[in-house]
Amino acid sequence: FELKDILSAIDTVPIISQELLGLAKWAADYYLGSLGELLKAALPAGMDLSEARMVAPLLPQSKAAHLRAATQRKIFLHLTAHGEKTFRSLEREFGKAAARRAIAALEKLGFVKITDVVKKPKAAPKIRKYIRLIKNEEAEPLNDKQKLLTEILRQNDCKMLLSEAVAAVGTASVIRSLIRKGIVEEFSDELFRDPLRGDEIAPEEFELNSSQKEVLGKIQLSLDQNKFKPFLLHGVTGSGKTEIYIRAIKHILSQGKSAVLLVPEIALTPLFARRLRGHFGSQVAILHSSLGEGERFDEWRRLKSAEAKIAIGTRSAIFAPVEKPSLIIVDEEHDSSYYQHEPPFYNARDLALVRGRDCGATVVLGSATPSLETYYNAQKGKYELLELPQRVEGRPLPQAEIIDMREEFRKSGRSMLISPVLRNAIKETISRGNQAILLLNRRGFSAFVLCRMCGNTIKCKNCDVSLTYHKRENKLICHYCNYSIKTPDKCPVCLSEYLYFIGEGTEQLEDRLDKIFPDARIGRLDRDVVRRRGEVDQILKKFDQGELDILAGTQMLAKGHDFHKVTLVGVVSVDNILGLPDFRAAERTFQLLAQVAGRAGRGKLKGQVFIQSYLPDHYVLEFARRQDYKGFYEAELNFRKSMYFPPFCYLASILVTHKNQESAQKFAQRFRQALDRANAQKKCRISGPASAAIARLKGIYRFQILVRSPHRSLLHDVISEAEKLADSAGVDRSNLRIEVDPIELT
Ligand code: ADP
Ligand code: ZN
Ligand code: ZN
Repeated sequence: FELKDILSAIDTVPIISQELLGLAKWAADYYLGSLGELLKAALPAGMDLSEARMVAPLLPQSKAAHLRAATQRKIFLHLTAHGEKTFRSLEREFGKAAARRAIAALEKLGFVKITDVVKKPKAAPKIRKYIRLIKNEEAEPLNDKQKLLTEILRQNDCKMLLSEAVAAVGTASVIRSLIRKGIVEEFSDELFRDPLRGDEIAPEEFELNSSQKEVLGKIQLSLDQNKFKPFLLHGVTGSGKTEIYIRAIKHILSQGKSAVLLVPEIALTPLFARRLRGHFGSQVAILHSSLGEGERFDEWRRLKSAEAKIAIGTRSAIFAPVEKPSLIIVDEEHDSSYYQHEPPFYNARDLALVRGRDCGATVVLGSATPSLETYYNAQKGKYELLELPQRVEGRPLPQAEIIDMREEFRKSGRSMLISPVLRNAIKETISRGNQAILLLNRRGFSAFVLCRMCGNTIKCKNCDVSLTYHKRENKLICHYCNYSIKTPDKCPVCLSEYLYFIGEGTEQLEDRLDKIFPDARIGRLDRDVVRRRGEVDQILKKFDQGELDILAGTQMLAKGHDFHKVTLVGVVSVDNILGLPDFRAAERTFQLLAQVAGRAGRGKLKGQVFIQSYLPDHYVLEFARRQDYKGFYEAELNFRKSMYFPPFCYLASILVTHKNQESAQKFAQRFRQALDRANAQKKCRISGPASAAIARLKGIYRFQILVRSPHRSLLHDVISEAEKLADSAGVDRSNLRIEVDPIELT
């Protein structure tokens, strides 16, 4: 071939560094996913070019009569009526195969022209006009307004936005005259969109306590050695882990190095982001999904250009474009939000270790309730264990008590949402001017609607789950696909009027609290609130500033919030999580309880916790009550061992899906056979196919197969081999959803 000239370079620097490309390749391989999808996940949304194939008419409409084939004529008429269309929209409208054939014929006949266009990325730098002072104006005679402007410019480092300058002096003519005199010049520059907009919290200064010093010392030692070293920082809630992260970051910044800090959900902890901004100013770049595309793009570029050296963000920030981070921290490493539940599947917590290994970084996984796998790795010596067993300033962990709701039911003869004990505790708390947090892990008003005549529960039309009643919107909503219907007043099956609303959600809790404590100021926090932009921030701020007495909500309340006036935490119910058909149900419940309990008594005042349950004898509740992580770990580890679940095996979950139930089942059986053939030596344990916990989701039937293996590589070999075999047995790759190290089996 003859080499062609380069017309222009798209980027001056590759947008993906060798290092990140390596990480993405590793992940694609490990999670059996696609490299393209992973690279896309690694880059901020909206910066990729997209391509579209356009079809335009070349002849007037009257020529349509010359076309004999019906589809060709229809498409041509469509184009002459509406103008140029994308190839894809024509495929949608006229059927894929038919449209392709017809368009190809039309092109040959000279009726249409096909062109490929590249669409500009949506996220681009925001360019604005600025002015700057370029000459000393003292010698020049200036009027008052001109003088004023030069003074303002001087106060702003001689540079400001043109629009702000005009606003400051009230007219553009002042600026024009200064430009004519050669004192000021106009230029274009980028405007960085800052997600925190100067809303930072001034850093507090205090001395670390002796355990904190010891922990920090070990981390710093490792940082100075520039070698890969993983730590697990196990510190109880309120033990000052965040403070360690901050100081470790300060340490590397002073050496000109860079860091990545992963946090579960920044949107839920805005105060935390501000605290960090207070410490590190513009050296911090924030990356998370609820930023606008433009904001995220700018933050990403500040990291890429090394103007910012610390990336703080959620899951995808593990791909932050910092040059060879020497410190990677994963806060609340047990949190399930590090796992991406949709393709490309990956766990950012685990990728942190991979990236750390490749960069020779110190990796710190921190948690009060480490995941079982992580703690197991620490026990085995794969990670060095660092411990902060006490809260700062000798503050005690809150006292916790379990309330047996069966007993309450016997005493009062009715089921209740808030027991008298909890009610009194709330009353006392708010009458002292303190605050209470109440957890109920279900949003909406009632869990489901049951017909007393025919026993029917109203289900989603797309999923095999009950619809949840939302009183505020007066709808029944599916929590899995968002399908909703107006709340019916009759049973849709037997038309009886005896509909029963069963199981309480956060809306009902809020209403009940309102009735019991009419004078209390009550806030609610759950996914429904999160959807309204800015509202979470507002509620948390209000609560932080003491403008709310009670905050009721779902597990979002358990995230790392640091409110100093919360003295009471009431767990209204978490029984529904304990009952989930998932081997991690107990672990998840323990983590949730320990974390939410940890919100109490973080200030100078002592904290108190009540846990209501109909399963008061469950071992998880007892360990959670005592905040006994190690006790729970031992018990749970035994259970995992006896059931042959991680950390004692490597697990993959394979969902075989199809919109037709029989086909789904048939393909699942075929895939199982393929797995068996790939596993001829029987080293992996394979179970299923069985109907998944949610047998139908968004209109798709789901059958689950679990593959467990004593070795990581064996798991991959067997599944990859089965994929190849299944291909020839007619199982389409698009009907398989393969998750390596899944964290939830639904
Ligand atoms: P964790 O992340 O372990 O839950 P934090 O780092 O948020 O704990 O610390 C809890 C609270 O204690 C914060 O308000 C923090 O400012 C404060 N704190 C941390 N270390 C100290 C210390 N050495 N002395 C006094 N207060 C501290
Ligand atoms: Zn009925
Ligand atoms: Zn649904």
